[in-house]
Amino acid sequence: MKFTESITDVIPPQTVEEIMGTIDRSEKIVITTHLSPDGDALGSSLALYHYLRNIGKKPRIIVPNSFPYFLKWMKGANEIDIYEYNPGAAKKILSNADLIFSLDYNISKRAGDMGMIIDASHARKILIDHHLAPGNNFDVIVSHPEISSTSELIFRLLFQAGKYESLNQAEAECIYCGMMTDTGGFTYNSSEPEIFEIISLLLRKNVDKDAIYSQVFHNYSADRFRLLGFTLSQRMEVYPELHSALIHLSRDDQSPFRYSKGDTEGFVNYPLSIKNIIFSTFIREDEGLIKLSFRSQKTFPCNEFAAEFFNGGGHLNASGGEFYGTYEDALRTYSMGLKKYEQKLKEANGEQ
Ligand code: 5GP
Ligand code: MN
Repeated sequence: MKFTESITDVIPPQTVEEIMGTIDRSEKIVITTHLSPDGDALGSSLALYHYLRNIGKKPRIIVPNSFPYFLKWMKGANEIDIYEYNPGAAKKILSNADLIFSLDYNISKRAGDMGMIIDASHARKILIDHHLAPGNNFDVIVSHPEISSTSELIFRLLFQAGKYESLNQAEAECIYCGMMTDTGGFTYNSSEPEIFEIISLLLRKNVDKDAIYSQVFHNYSADRFRLLGFTLSQRMEVYPELHSALIHLSRDDQSPFRYSKGDTEGFVNYPLSIKNIIFSTFIREDEGLIKLSFRSQKTFPCNEFAAEFFNGGGHLNASGGEFYGTYEDALRTYSMGLKKYEQKLKEANGEQ
């Protein structure tokens, strides 16, 4: 058996054909992604960007706001336009586009103010994403919540279109980075065998996976590390009977550690290392809003919790939300929500 024969056609072949045809016919292509772009958002966007450049297109990437320093090593990252820095220029590019890709988000609201401009543009719109419930204002929808990253979907798109042979190292590195970050370095949501078949195919393109791991996960400032220590020792509440833990940081907590964007990335995962904890929440006071991150294990739907109390959503085991109000009210809303979910938490942990 030839190794590559075992990759399933997850995207319907006629959709692959339609996307490739649309790319061929388009000149002004813009790739967009969600607010606070993460490794998968940038990995999928940059991989597609490199592919388009290699076939002679001149795509742009516009992201709603800035992204963390440990993702800046990715090839092409310094060519990304940031909407928030120059909304007027970004609006012009989006309004004049003939094709807009929406990667790693399901509805335009997830792109912040930029979402409305995308909605208003007359461009053809292609969604490629792995979140539940895709919006309907797209011409083509590739939505696969069962796939662990959008970057994997970009790989599948190119692979199914017969572009694997011409896939280059930069594209492969970006795809690998997105697959790695959305699965916590392949520690969750990554038991599908084909994920590792795809990784094997990426490694054949000279991806140095250990170097990428180091760039992303061994690249923190000492301040960030001290902030982690402070958070876990001083700002963590554990509710053993509810199998839940909360970590929280006010703005005053953050300032002695010179908080910089991305510094708290991954913090929410730590409480899940505590025995019998299946639901972890991180509440962080940001400028003008309270940002929440949720992680869960087993069948506990942290996306439902995010949607019900914090205007958010996401995946079953990884979700997020926002709260507009005081930090104290956000903490109270969490406590109230936790009580309401007591039964679900116990059920998810196998108790009656
Ligand atoms: P993180 O905790 O890493 O910021 O986000 C985890 C996941 O939660 C993201 O991949 C995304 O699916 C979802 N998410 C994060 N923030 C929000 C939000 O404000 N609204 C919604 N709907 N989903 C979010
Ligand atoms: Mn993703």
